[in-house]
Amino acid sequence: MRRRGMAVLAAVVVVASACTPQPEPEARREQVAATATTTTTTTTTTTTPPTAVPGPGGTTIPVFQPAYSYGTPQQHVPPTVDGLVPVIRRIETDRPYVFITIDDGAVRHPAAVELMRKSGVEPTLFLNSKHVDGHAEYFRQFEGVATVHAHTSTHPDLLGKPYEFQRQEICGNADLLRVQLGAEPKLFRPPFGNFDLTTRRAAADCGFTALVMWTAAVNDGVVQFQAGGRLNAGDIVLMHFRHTFAEDFLAFLERCKADGLTPVVLEDFLAEPRATV
Ligand SMILES: [Zn+2]
Repeated sequence: MRRRGMAVLAAVVVVASACTPQPEPEARREQVAATATTTTTTTTTTTTPPTAVPGPGGTTIPVFQPAYSYGTPQQHVPPTVDGLVPVIRRIETDRPYVFITIDDGAVRHPAAVELMRKSGVEPTLFLNSKHVDGHAEYFRQFEGVATVHAHTSTHPDLLGKPYEFQRQEICGNADLLRVQLGAEPKLFRPPFGNFDLTTRRAAADCGFTALVMWTAAVNDGVVQFQAGGRLNAGDIVLMHFRHTFAEDFLAFLERCKADGLTPVVLEDFLAEPRATV
């Protein structure tokens, strides 16, 4: 996080110094000077941040520069109406942004954190209690690298199930993620994408603000689209913690590069409205 933040600052400073007449603060001017000094021996293109870096197992990881300061609300979640959380299938945006979500947690892939950190992409994780319980140490590594949200305790098909059953699956999962990971889950994804009005009501009663679906998926290293042959702005992409994690994540990153899109943070686009008195 910190290294990426500094890279952004440097990039912003270079841009700002090129197009604004205001004098730079002393510290920033020094940083520009330092950047210039380290690059005078080669061509000017070395000041550009890398677009790819070496990854695990001889792979190459596409790198994305943050499109804005992650963790800053960009859009707000639609309201909960009549006690039902809204269903989000895609994000309405005119910016070239996509969103990556990673479900379950069944396979604790050793390269997952490195891939996220080096790519500059902060996914949204929808984790089940049954995969986190007993393995919290692994999932705590994602703090500051990804955001953690809820996906039920035991991954049942919720469709048609009684309210109390659904409430326990959803609230229980949220409680475990709070206690074991220090997470603040606000988004909920139903297993298999199956839900009914009872699911939406239970999610609202458990304190969730939205039920999140998806518009594209990655399986066996291939990005699959619900419509068309490419990712589009606002798409929410689904993948899983599987043995193919590296292949799947890299396929997603390469697809984003090919389609001119930047993966950004989903919860920044489903931010809660500021509380009013
Ligand atoms: Zn799942």
